Amino acid sequence: MRLKAVRLDEVELPLIEPFETSFGIENRRRFLLVRVESWDGVEGWGECAAAVDPLYSSESVATARWILAERLIPLALRLPAASPESFGRAAERFRGNRMAKAALETALHDNRARREGRSLSRRLGGRRPRVRVGVSVGIQPTVAKLVRRVGRYLDAGYERVKLKVRPGWDSLPVAAVRREYPDLDLWVDANQAYPPSAAGLIRAWAEKFSVAQVEQPFPERSVLAHAALAEGANFRVCLDESVVDAASLEDALLSRAVTSLNVKVARVGGLGPGLSLAGEAARADVPSWVGGMLESGVGRAHNVALASTRPFVLSADLSASDRYYREDLTDPPFVLGRGSTLEVPRGPGTGVEVVERVLRKYRRSSRTFRAG
Ligand SMILES: [Mg+2]
Repeated sequence: MRLKAVRLDEVELPLIEPFETSFGIENRRRFLLVRVESWDGVEGWGECAAAVDPLYSSESVATARWILAERLIPLALRLPAASPESFGRAAERFRGNRMAKAALETALHDNRARREGRSLSRRLGGRRPRVRVGVSVGIQPTVAKLVRRVGRYLDAGYERVKLKVRPGWDSLPVAAVRREYPDLDLWVDANQAYPPSAAGLIRAWAEKFSVAQVEQPFPERSVLAHAALAEGANFRVCLDESVVDAASLEDALLSRAVTSLNVKVARVGGLGPGLSLAGEAARADVPSWVGGMLESGVGRAHNVALASTRPFVLSADLSASDRYYREDLTDPPFVLGRGSTLEVPRGPGTGVEVVERVLRKYRRSSRTFRAG
């Protein structure tokens, strides 16, 4: 079915607490939301995870707004049958800009599942009623504060913790958390902060403190450095930023640089690409899991649907709504349940509804595009 209109909103949601990674500190999240409407009046929502500054990837709110407004939305409005697949194929001629593409692709997935009266999870082939999740803990001002923070998340019911690390904030905090919680499933993520020459030191503290998984320690292009770290390691080497498409995954698999794959809907351009990359990894016996970009309830709902599908066997970085935002854009909220899980919504589409009152409160701008 053709699209009747697409709305592009810019939103700024305050975070409950600042989130610090090796890239910097975030106090609030500014992002774009896409709302598509087909001719039968059914809506569909997608979120663009690009941040104000191009730190995680080369995309930003400004570049995503430009390509969405000037190229991708007009393209989607012209499609005789707007589906996630037809949009994905048509958008291929524009290089990169995967976060912007993902915003529209996911909105089209939501729209189609709603029109069919099916949950997005089922539409993607998902069978799990609940998905296992963990919590990602940012860099803290002191080690003592970090240990207390981890303790609070464990008390809340999270069973897996990922620590953000960087040079100068690694072996000491990791040792302290391990000492306090000897049985914890402990992962770390460096967001590319180390040079390949640091491999020996990383291996030493990761093995000493039984870290289960080391994520993206080296720059995104340094695939062979990750392969060297993975060789003989007793922890998984996870790639995040390095894998953006089928070709980069193939290189990583062939060079054995990846023993765990973080799939972010935003980074790979949508749910379709995410499913296919995870399937490819699974065929090479590499487990996948769904990563997060501090999404609001809109993006989180897409992530939860993806995590309910078969190739995603490790716990996702998808915490409950109250981990990030005092007031989220969607209802009902995601609540942490038994066994460190989130329930997969069963209603049509993502199964969550955008609360327009909350959206209007935090919206900075809004523009509607109509089919000609
Ligand atoms: Mg990461």
